[in-house]
Amino acid sequence: MNHGSLEARINDIRFCRNCTFLAVDKWKGWPIRDAVPVLPMLKGSKCPICGGSDEIVSTSIGWLNIHGLYSTGLPDYWVLTVAEESLGFVKKFPSKWGLPYYELLKCRSCGGDFFASLFIPGLGWQLRRWCTGCGMDETTEDRGEP
Ligand SMILES: [Zn+2]
Ligand SMILES: [Zn+2]
Repeated sequence: MNHGSLEARINDIRFCRNCTFLAVDKWKGWPIRDAVPVLPMLKGSKCPICGGSDEIVSTSIGWLNIHGLYSTGLPDYWVLTVAEESLGFVKKFPSKWGLPYYELLKCRSCGGDFFASLFIPGLGWQLRRWCTGCGMDETTEDRGEP
């Protein structure tokens, strides 16, 4: 699969803005290996967690690598970062590492919300899908080798 077809599948998932900022600030880890926080979507026009009504689109949330002062190679860890929607920076594949909240489908076993995270580390890609209903959690990858 090439990056163009991955790009065509991007969803604009609408999350509660307030809860997104709170959760995203706490996450630290490695893309795909460490699960990203479950973010609430508004039901009607209110967030079921905080009651807020402001939204943010999933394509505003990106991966950001953090290097220590003396690091020369791999990042020390990654964080989640939120950009202004107008920049659309995370849609520029493949330079921005993919999307922590890439796709939303219906779970094939329980019908629940089935999210996907996409990570593009340079060569190939990794996808982790998880269901907020039944807890199904699966990782697939394409090493992108000839
Ligand atoms: Zn909320
Ligand atoms: Zn499920």
